[in-house]
Amino acid sequence: MRLVILGGGESGVGAALLGQAKGYDVFLSDRGLLKATYKQTLEAAGIPFEEGQHTESLILNATEVVKSPGIPDTVPLVTKLREQGTAILSEIEFAARYTRAKLIGITGSNGKTTTTLLTYHLLKTAGYNVGLAGNIGESFAKQVISDTFDYFVLELSSFQLDTMYQTRLDTAVLLNITPDHLDRYGYVFQNYIDSKFRILQNLRPTDTFIYFRENAPTMQELATRQPDVYALPISLESQPSPGGYVADGHLTAQFRDRTFQIDTAPLPLKGPHNALNMLAATLAALSVDVPDAAISEGLGTFQNAAHRMEPVGTINGVRFINDSKATNVDSVFYALSSMDVPTIWIAGGQDKGNDYSQLDAVARQHVKALICLGVDNQKLVDHFGHMFTTIRETQRVTEAVQLALDLAQPGDAVLLSPACASFDLFKNYEDRGEQFKQAVKSLMKNVK
Ligand code: ADP
Repeated sequence: MRLVILGGGESGVGAALLGQAKGYDVFLSDRGLLKATYKQTLEAAGIPFEEGQHTESLILNATEVVKSPGIPDTVPLVTKLREQGTAILSEIEFAARYTRAKLIGITGSNGKTTTTLLTYHLLKTAGYNVGLAGNIGESFAKQVISDTFDYFVLELSSFQLDTMYQTRLDTAVLLNITPDHLDRYGYVFQNYIDSKFRILQNLRPTDTFIYFRENAPTMQELATRQPDVYALPISLESQPSPGGYVADGHLTAQFRDRTFQIDTAPLPLKGPHNALNMLAATLAALSVDVPDAAISEGLGTFQNAAHRMEPVGTINGVRFINDSKATNVDSVFYALSSMDVPTIWIAGGQDKGNDYSQLDAVARQHVKALICLGVDNQKLVDHFGHMFTTIRETQRVTEAVQLALDLAQPGDAVLLSPACASFDLFKNYEDRGEQFKQAVKSLMKNVK
């Protein structure tokens, strides 16, 4: 059995190691250059690989191919493989064959990482023997080589779902579907919806499916499919919903004959989007019998990953918040909705075909000034010019932070929530967030 791995990142190298451990004849090929640590790993394991090119004669003879989610289907090599009928899998699909652990899979356009980390944290708090994988951290494949976990919480992107076929999840979470990544889906929203719904494939009637009742694309698609699963809709509209809801500051989650309730005020995750994430994670935990006490404790002690509504510091009574991961309009909608004080909003970057009109109402309600941080800010300026009297433009983070402080009064907040990709001025969203935090911290020193 010849296993060819396309793409030598975390998931590709993990799949190569797993393939070798399971007796495959493995070859890895990456059109770019491999990270030095991955090269060392492959060399140490004696796994042949190439970089900087794809040599067809070494690839087309594969029995199976594991393709990195970063490689689009339109690449000629992938088309050729498909035409000759070679099976193309994601690393998740390949690795899932080799674990007996129960799998909780989480997808959605926004909130995947937060909900995955939170679910993992709830199971950990209960003392479960649980692994964390998917679109996050160490590869799933590497972790199943010695199959020691009883549970895995998997963050699943649409690209990973696209090459998943047999994997059966015990619990599937679909947080929301909003237009994103359309360039990879032929600019057809339905294709992206279909991709997200692959999370449901192979679920049995007793398996759990958690979804957001107020997400129109999810509901429309569900109406046509009517899957035979234990389906739990969650809601943010203060109305009881079979899976769970939030009303009067209390979160209620219901799973079969169990009801879990908690006051959300003291919990670290804030805002309606995080209420949704907490509902989903709580239900996922209930679906694998996590006790109430562990869920309460876990919700209270959770620390989210950086760059997601991350508090940075306070200068002269002005709070600075880093939400650099908000690279689309929907996540900014929730960020602005979470603000409870007048906000100086820093936005902009590389536009992804954004429709800003969805933000009009929340921006009117919460934003007092807009600072555009991007190479080309015209679209933002055109859209919000009529709404705010104060709009500033800059291409420097330090200047954006200083401008924001100048415009703010004690009690206000400054929110970096860009709605755009970062590649015009930064390496990636992490770089943008780090530079923002640095700028705030050096201003804190100077002001004191
Ligand atoms: P993902 O992994 O899907 O990109 P993250 O948890 O990393 O999701 O969050 C990405 C961005 O979206 C952050 O700016 C965050 O504040 C915002 N966000 C988090 N959860 C949600 C949600 N349920 N709906 C909309 N936006 C969200």
